[in-house]
Amino acid sequence: MKQSIKLFRHVLWSLSMLFLITATSNAKEVTGIMDKFEPKKVAEHTWVILGPLTGPSVANKGFMNNPAFVVTDKSVVVIDPGSSLYVGRALLKKIRKITDKPITHVFNTHIHGDHWLGNQAMLEENPKAEIYAHPQMIAEAKAGEAEAWISLLEKLTEGISKGTEAVIPANALEDGQKITIDNITVKMHFTAKAHTTTDAMFEILEDKVLITGDNAFRDRSPRLDDGSYVGNMTAMDNALKLDVTVVIPGHGPAGGKEVLSDFREFLYIIYDSTKTLLEEDAEAFEMKPIIVKKMAKFKGWENFDGAIGKLISVAVLEAENE
Ligand SMILES: [Zn+2]
Repeated sequence: MKQSIKLFRHVLWSLSMLFLITATSNAKEVTGIMDKFEPKKVAEHTWVILGPLTGPSVANKGFMNNPAFVVTDKSVVVIDPGSSLYVGRALLKKIRKITDKPITHVFNTHIHGDHWLGNQAMLEENPKAEIYAHPQMIAEAKAGEAEAWISLLEKLTEGISKGTEAVIPANALEDGQKITIDNITVKMHFTAKAHTTTDAMFEILEDKVLITGDNAFRDRSPRLDDGSYVGNMTAMDNALKLDVTVVIPGHGPAGGKEVLSDFREFLYIIYDSTKTLLEEDAEAFEMKPIIVKKMAKFKGWENFDGAIGKLISVAVLEAENE
C-alpha cells in the first residue's frame, strides 16, 4: 500500500513538473533588447542606460528611454524602468551584473508609457517593491492612459510588447518631499504643466544628480502635445537653480546643467519666434522655414524634421491663449 502511494505521488509530481515546463516554454520572452547598451555610472551611486533616440519600433523592441538606478547600501532604486515587461526584465539583467541587492523603490517621472510600463518587471522580481509617482500620473493612468499606452506600444512594436500589463504606482508623491532609502535621499520636484501635467523630477541629493524625465530632452526632438512651452521653460529655470552637477534627461545623453539650458533654448526659440510671428500676422505655414533657420543648433536632433511642424502648431495654440 505504502509503495503504491509513493508511486502515485511520483506520477503526480512528474505530471506537475511537465505542466510547469510546458507553461514556462509557452511564456513569451523578448531577448536582445539591451544587447548594445550598458549601464553607465554617472555618479557615486547612480547609473543610467542611455536608450535609443528613435521612437518605439520593431527595431528597438519598444526600448527608447533612459532607465536609471541608484545603488544604496542595501537596495536598488529604479527610475523609469522602460516601456514594457520585456524592457524591464532586460534592465534587471543589466542591474544584476552590477549588484544583487533587491529592488525596493521605483519612481516614475510621468504618464508616458515608454517610461513606466516596465514597472511590471520590477514587481515580478520583488512584489514588495514600492512604486511612486505624481498623484496626477496615477489618476491619469487609472482613467485610461495606461491602457491607451499599452495599445499604442503594441501597435508601434507590432506586438513585441504584448503581454505587458499596467502596474500603476501605488504611492502618490508630494512636491518637495524627500524619501530616504538607506544612505540615499531622493527629493521630488514637481512643475506646473511642463512636458505633461504629471511630471516629477528626481534629485539624488548625495550624488548631485537630477533625473528630469521628459522635462528635458537632448539630441532628440520632444513631443509637447500634452505640455506647455512656458511651463516647461519654467521647469528648466527651476532645475538650473538646483545644486546638481549631473543631469539625466528623459531621452538622450546625460551631461551637466547644459542639458537644461540647451533644452530651454530649444523651447525658447520656437515659442518666442512663434509669438513674434503671430504679432506680425504670419500664418503657421509661413513660420516653419523662419523658425527652422533659427534652430540650426538643433537640426541634428533625432526626428527634428518630423517634429518641428507639430511643435510650431502647439506653440501657436499656446501663444494665442496666453
Ligand atoms: Zn514623455
